[in-house]
Amino acid sequence: PHGHEDDYEIVRPIGSGSFGQVFLVLHRWEQRQYVMKNIELKDTTKEGSEATELEVQLLRGIQHPNIVAYQDSFVNSLGHLCILMEYCEHGDIHSYLQAAKKAQKVPDEQHLLEWFVQITLALHALHTKKILHRDLKTQNIFLTGYRRENIFALKLGDFGIAKVLDSTTDLAKTQIGTPFYMSPELINNKPYSYKSDIWALGCVLYEIVNGQRAFDAQSLNGLALKIIKGNYTPITASCSPATRSLIKSTLGTKATHRPTLKEKGRFSTRP
Ligand code: ADP
Ligand code: MG
Repeated sequence: PHGHEDDYEIVRPIGSGSFGQVFLVLHRWEQRQYVMKNIELKDTTKEGSEATELEVQLLRGIQHPNIVAYQDSFVNSLGHLCILMEYCEHGDIHSYLQAAKKAQKVPDEQHLLEWFVQITLALHALHTKKILHRDLKTQNIFLTGYRRENIFALKLGDFGIAKVLDSTTDLAKTQIGTPFYMSPELINNKPYSYKSDIWALGCVLYEIVNGQRAFDAQSLNGLALKIIKGNYTPITASCSPATRSLIKSTLGTKATHRPTLKEKGRFSTRP
């Protein structure tokens, strides 16, 4: 069952991201809200756009409590690839952390580690299916309804799209991948690997613990230099030695030294 643009009514624009415009839409028959990403394709032949659509359909097979579900995809009358996904009404954790910082509210470590565990479970589910996320960052981690008092359930979004779009859009080529989360091997033009996702996971953990980016600089060159040296800004937040050492190992400059998601001891939630 393929979706069609007539099934959805645009409610309002949510913003524009690295892949194009993003809308909140309403499915007319289901009366349910979804997020729709509209992406201009470079390869506008029928075969080309159908191939891209097919790749997105593959991502629909992934169902996990901590992963934003892909609902549908189709090419609309303008030839734009439209990807429909679950709407996460509480926004992303990047905005959440910024608001918390402004209000001078420091979330406690236990709470943040619960977040980290959920993100890790989601990434584990992808890696087990041999899917790389490729665009892991705090802007792609969403908050959903309350799970327990004051603790949100997190959902990881935008997985796999970077790969799908890499060959099919001009947009993707220039804008994909926030440079802040790029691993040393990516800076050195090596291919993306599971360990590049782990590096980005380390950057995310650092950011939720310390309230700022692990690597930041005024220029791209300055940033690249810091990343290659693994020179992240010292952690100033109060944080346990175990968390510090986890950050240190996930941000190892040598990809082989970073943990995988299979090593029980290092990513385990229980002592
Ligand atoms: P980015 O490149 O920053 O990841 P996106 O295209 O993914 O950009 O998203 C653009 C905007 O839409 C962001 O503000 C993001 O928080 C929001 N957004 C994206 N996906 C969802 C979703 N599933 N639910 C709610 N908001 C979303
Ligand atoms: Mg995104």
